[in-house]
Parts: sequence; C-alpha cells; structure tokens
Amino acid sequence: MAQVDIRCTKCGSSKLSVRTSERMTMHSTKSILYCQNCHCCKMEVISAVTGVSIATYEDSEEAMRVNRPLDQTDERQLEILTD
Ligand SMILES: [Zn+2]
Repeated sequence: MAQVDIRCTKCGSSKLSVRTSERMTMHSTKSILYCQNCHCCKMEVISAVTGVSIATYEDSEEAMRVNRPLDQTDERQLEILTD
C-alpha cells in the first residue's frame, strides 16, 4: 500500500517520523514531522481531504447464481439420469 510522499526539505529523505498530529477541522490535520535521516529538520505539514467519492453497491444476481444448486441454475441438469 502506498504512503503519503512527503520528504525532508533539507536532505530529501522520506524517513520521517510523526511527532504530533492533530485535527484542525473535519477534513484537515496539522502534523509535526522530524527527519530520521539527517536528524536536523523539523517540518510542519498540513494535510487536507480535497475530494471524496462514495461507492454504491448493487445486488448482483449473476454472482449469486453460482451458489445455487445446479438444478436451479441450469434446467437441463434435471434431464440427466443419475442412477
Ligand atoms: Zn533530512
């Protein structure tokens, strides 16, 4: 899984640790980060949610068909003699 790509403004390293992180609003957060590579850079970072998409789900009869017994998915199965 990807991570937020923030880099040290002094050395360019992505080895940052979050010291504090507090929500400013429903959609924004202010964090204090320290560089674990050069050990001499403290950064204040503001993150904000700028777009939201919500998935909608629909019942899938097609997907459920495979969970039914064969005699319900294919009527020709009833014509096969089993003895
Ligand atoms: Zn650094």
